[in-house]
Amino acid sequence: CSSNHNSRLAHFDENSEEDIPNFQWRMLFELLWQDILFLVGAVMAAMAAAFVNIKIPMMLGELTNIVNMFTTNGMAIGVTSFIAEIKEPAIKLLCIYAAQSLLTFSYITLLAIVGENMASRLRKRLFNALLQQDIEFFDNHKTGQLVDRLTTDVQDFKSSFKMTISQGLKALTQSVGSIISLFMVSPKLTMIMIGVLPIFIVIGTTLGTLLRAMSRDAQEEISRSTALADEALGNIRTVRAFAMENKEYELYAKQIDKSRTKFIHLGFGIGLFQGGANLFLNGIVLGSLFAGGWLISNKELKAGDLISFLVATQMVERSMAQMSLLLGHVVRGLTAGARVFEFIDTQPKIPIHEGKKIPFHSLVGKIEFSNVSFHYPSRKQLVLKDFNLTVPGGNVVALVGLSGGGKSTVASLLERFYDVNQGKITLDGIDLRHLDPTWLRGQAIGFINQEPVLFATTVMENIRYGRPDASDQEVIEAAKLANADSFIRHFPKGYSTILGERGVTVSGGQKQRIAIARALIKNPSILILDEATSALDLESERLVQEALDKVVKGRTTLVIAHRLSTVRNADFIAVVSKGRIMEVGSHSELYSRRGLYWELMKKQELEDDLKSK
Ligand code: ADP
Repeated sequence: CSSNHNSRLAHFDENSEEDIPNFQWRMLFELLWQDILFLVGAVMAAMAAAFVNIKIPMMLGELTNIVNMFTTNGMAIGVTSFIAEIKEPAIKLLCIYAAQSLLTFSYITLLAIVGENMASRLRKRLFNALLQQDIEFFDNHKTGQLVDRLTTDVQDFKSSFKMTISQGLKALTQSVGSIISLFMVSPKLTMIMIGVLPIFIVIGTTLGTLLRAMSRDAQEEISRSTALADEALGNIRTVRAFAMENKEYELYAKQIDKSRTKFIHLGFGIGLFQGGANLFLNGIVLGSLFAGGWLISNKELKAGDLISFLVATQMVERSMAQMSLLLGHVVRGLTAGARVFEFIDTQPKIPIHEGKKIPFHSLVGKIEFSNVSFHYPSRKQLVLKDFNLTVPGGNVVALVGLSGGGKSTVASLLERFYDVNQGKITLDGIDLRHLDPTWLRGQAIGFINQEPVLFATTVMENIRYGRPDASDQEVIEAAKLANADSFIRHFPKGYSTILGERGVTVSGGQKQRIAIARALIKNPSILILDEATSALDLESERLVQEALDKVVKGRTTLVIAHRLSTVRNADFIAVVSKGRIMEVGSHSELYSRRGLYWELMKKQELEDDLKSK
């Protein structure tokens, strides 16, 4: 268990140690430019609110001085004059409170607008950029990581951006302003306080850094446990099939306990920090009272000034504490932003739109692979070596051979999911690299693979995915051609049935026929069938095969076949092994040659015999 535990966790460690890209200020500027007025408004409102906050202690002091006057001489002067005395400063304070509240409202609202605009712009740009990335990119990144950047990272970036402007600017203005007003109230007391401040800052920052590291650590443990749970729940069938529920539970429980311990330590640290900070802050209050009282007794200070001083001191302390907390958020936000910007800035090597289109009526569909060599970008080993294949327009060619030989790779290259390293692939004599990939994939080629993906929408829309401007009638025609019409009509709501909803189960064979209809609605000149029937049982295979036999007519078709019985009718069969074509010919030619094809046939017969026993 422990080695299993470690190896699975090691895999999560790998993920957390991604290189952190640089933050791009240019991109931030671009994102904010459209909202610059709102942003300037927000900044000004936040700073004004801070400025007003600075005024409050002074006003409180003024009021206290008046009240104080009446506590000593109250009886003599009376209530009317108290009101007369206090009226003006009280109204002033009231106005200040009102202004403060209005400004707070303004900057929070404005920042919400700027923040949300920025986040939605960022999400749209990132999503668009992701959709355009090369297939190679998706080989190298897990979907979870990408979704994480779209959600968590954008969220982190937005909130830390908002915080920096609102709290950061405010805290800075308030600290500076309050220190100035402290000087104005009592230079002597201020000097004493400023003397102790550095100690507070040094201790506070050190502890803060320590706590942040602890928090990151604890957070890391939690995300590891989440990843474990995600893996187990997401693959529940495998877990169940191996009866590993207990093992998975143990793994998870162990991880949760680890994070619990870390969080308790963190809580202890935070408690210590807060407790210590309170002690220190109260100490400062007491110290100020003591020093202030002494100054009052020497007639160097008024009671109200001491109140002003105390309130302003607390404002400085609070602002500084806020700034130190903010530092963590800023670091986090910059990292998150950099992660988002990185993918926006990644340019795909294969463009989505760019290049020639061949008009439908002049497209013959002749495909030629000439001396193609190819290796996947993630691996150096050649998958295709000097691969040559010519398919005349309208022909059906079957690629057969042991798995791993490179058959699917041929299909991927034809779809231009990757570019070849050497040689070239042409369609009607034109290099694929000069053709518009959107046209090639969207109109010229219909691709049906082993595991078709249906989206959680109606059957109608799933088929229409092949050509968004197709009419309902065209969808139904395509479904008929794909032998799908009759079973679709038996669904609870026919073509309007939403797939993936409870109560609608679609068998593998039905799924495949919907996928065929989807590919057919493009009316593609070229069809690629990549093991389209290999995941099906015999009965479904027969139904799907029937549909396929109908639809390949008049189209250049590349069939990648697992079962040799399905390819007998092909115009010719190419046996692919180790990235090369070893034999080409019709079924009977190859069979009588007693070469690789014959061996494959024998092997399959043996397997079929074993299965049927
Ligand atoms: P076949 O279709 O004949 O089974 P493939 O074309 O799928 O063979 O695979 C040929 C080789 O390329 C195999 O060694 C396989 O591991 C490798 N391969 C396939 N897809 C990828 C990929 N996306 N990244 C890296 N290697 C791959």
